Amino acid sequence: MEFNFIKHLKGLDNLPTEPMNHYEQGSRFFTGGHLGPQINDKLEGYAAKGRWSRREMLKTATGFAAVMLAINEITGMKFFDVDKAEAVERDAAEEKFILAKGGNFVVDQHTHICWRNDGYVEGVNTTKQGMWFVDLLDGLGKAMGFENGIRDMTVENFGKVILQESDTDIAIFNPFGFREDYGGKDMVPIEEQAEIKQRWPDRTIMMGGGLTPNQGVGETLDRLQMFVEDYKIEGLKLYTFDSTPQKGWWFDDLERAYPIWEKCQKLGIKNVGCHKGIPFGQFMARYAHAEDFDRVCDDFLDMNFIVFHSAWPYHEEIAALKMFKPQRKNLYSELGSTFAATVTNRPIDCAHVIGTLLRDLGEDYLMWGTDSTLWANPQWQIDALRRFQIPNELVEGHGYPQLTDDVKKKIFGLNAARLWGLDTSTARVKLADDKFAGIALNGKPQNITA
Ligand SMILES: [Zn+2]
Repeated sequence: MEFNFIKHLKGLDNLPTEPMNHYEQGSRFFTGGHLGPQINDKLEGYAAKGRWSRREMLKTATGFAAVMLAINEITGMKFFDVDKAEAVERDAAEEKFILAKGGNFVVDQHTHICWRNDGYVEGVNTTKQGMWFVDLLDGLGKAMGFENGIRDMTVENFGKVILQESDTDIAIFNPFGFREDYGGKDMVPIEEQAEIKQRWPDRTIMMGGGLTPNQGVGETLDRLQMFVEDYKIEGLKLYTFDSTPQKGWWFDDLERAYPIWEKCQKLGIKNVGCHKGIPFGQFMARYAHAEDFDRVCDDFLDMNFIVFHSAWPYHEEIAALKMFKPQRKNLYSELGSTFAATVTNRPIDCAHVIGTLLRDLGEDYLMWGTDSTLWANPQWQIDALRRFQIPNELVEGHGYPQLTDDVKKKIFGLNAARLWGLDTSTARVKLADDKFAGIALNGKPQNITA
């Protein structure tokens, strides 16, 4: 992929290290990309009309709306539902952002903590390759407002930025494995991430991870059993690229993978996901393709398979797994990191990814995800999807469905609620008892219900 964090970070130099709030956090990622200089020119104009500086404006909802308006004007296509007045009148944008909070039940299908008690020390408990991933997360976290980068991607901050400060109702999380790169211990061991579930049982769903059949099928099955019995995992999220000498495996491997799915059936685990697409750091791109989901979906009809990251930039492969097989009902996709990375500086790509999946996979199978805490507070991503639309030119030319409010409700939470058996009304009632409920961010109450 050509999503280059380093390039992005360079564009952020002229802004304060720590964004004041999620609006500024989102704006700085938009302005850090290749559209940055053009966006900034537009922002100067809007700020002059509003009689304040661009820098001041960017600390507010007005700034974030202005960035989206600038994208519409630069590209000549309406990617964001934003009025000119929002970029100039100081309170108009914030009112609209607050108003939009009422409509969605938000399930973040894709979240993580990334720090562990032992830390990561190259040459001691982390290989040089393992450090590539650590550095990637560290740089992203710093750009998104975590002063200490990956060190701030902790259980505590998971609660703070995802459950407290964003509109997320339920967060689904999973650990990282790759123990060959991290001193023989999973990058994020399950016992450490389990603390999330203990602290916020009603707001989270824990998926097991770090199962790598190339480490031994027998051992993998034993660990799976332990995850279910000792940690009560509700699903699995795995990686088909790995750090063993074999480098990877496939979900449709009869010897290495099928025993895992058969054991899942026995243990009552129905939902299994896999990182696909975004072939980062030390991993082989070939294992980030999703064609292995084809057979496994057919052979395990009582299970659901979730393609994380929507396999971007190979999302058309998933679309093909459904377009010609409309009978398929157990293939799901989620948008973690893919939405954030594309919406900010390649909005046409973003519209194609979402449009292709809505058209071919179907509006009942696409789910919201952010990959936070990698992106610190996910709120700007939620706000951006609430405003995002597929421009008419692309709807007409590609047969994409419109990204209507009803479709967004499905993406934001209703599809995940069906998949995980969440009662959306019950979940909201439970939030009222949660110790984070009602805590204000920037003076505005969170989790306003419709
Ligand atoms: Zn992830």
